[in-house]
Amino acid sequence: MPARVHRLRPSDRRWRGQRCAHCRAVQFPPRTVCRICRERSLEPWVLTGRGVVYSLAQSVPRPAAGRLTALVQLEEGLLVTAQLTDVDRGDVLVGLPVEMVGPRTDLLRPPSLSSAFTFRPILPRRKAS
Ligand SMILES: [Zn+2]
Repeated sequence: MPARVHRLRPSDRRWRGQRCAHCRAVQFPPRTVCRICRERSLEPWVLTGRGVVYSLAQSVPRPAAGRLTALVQLEEGLLVTAQLTDVDRGDVLVGLPVEMVGPRTDLLRPPSLSSAFTFRPILPRRKAS
């Protein structure tokens, strides 16, 4: 299935967030004011797009999409509600390293923003040979 093959390639996406010049809080996606201190002096900040599964949602996964809902803690400390893809429920543990594969940033828009994030387990690195 082409879509899955595409998703299995190593992710090279850049996730553009912001860091507050006043309190240094990182936020994603970009907003007009800091989520913590409401200052407007925000600088561009590229997120790694990596994190770990913080908790699994108790709700039943959406069968049609074959995805699970989880709370993911990004390396920058942010918690985002996300869909997990390319993984079986039994393989998802708290602390599982994941990387962001979606959404396309041009599709970002409130209010369904948080549920649009998609993560998958970080693939093992291939040895160069
Ligand atoms: Zn701030």
